[in-house]
Amino acid sequence: MILEVKKLINSREGTAEGRFEPALTERDFPTGFLLRAPAMAEYHLARQGEKAALQLKILCPALIQCDRCLKQVERDYRFATDYLIGEADWTGEPELPIDGYGRLDLDELCYQEILLNLPSSLLCSDDCQGLCPVCGKPVEAGCSCCQNVGDDRLSILKQLLS
Ligand SMILES: [Zn+2]
Ligand SMILES: [Zn+2]
Repeated sequence: MILEVKKLINSREGTAEGRFEPALTERDFPTGFLLRAPAMAEYHLARQGEKAALQLKILCPALIQCDRCLKQVERDYRFATDYLIGEADWTGEPELPIDGYGRLDLDELCYQEILLNLPSSLLCSDDCQGLCPVCGKPVEAGCSCCQNVGDDRLSILKQLLS
């Protein structure tokens, strides 16, 4: 998906928006991260003086392996970024994936944003308790060693209360 930013700045209407599926199937992602369905992106571009303001939203339906408990879970990541794009972006050293004619490669931009915004450790939930240090099973699943710890605490509590 190519967005003609320069053309839009010079056009009469000065806005463009739409939804698309960024082409990401051939891309490499960090270990433990897979797309379980195509990503979806929405863009909104509006002229702002000599520049164009771009709003990009990306939804990534992912299948990840949790870094802490190693469980495979479905997680949806949503990213939203705003850019202000002007002539300097397609004449000088471009930071964005944009060519000399002011054409922005939205697929490439989506890919870069996903890599940039993915958390450095992928977790099934932000408060994942990881694996039991004794038996190596997920704490959440309730292994017997974890339950014993709980029972001990409970019996101490019972003693205190009696
Ligand atoms: Zn986990
Ligand atoms: Zn255990």
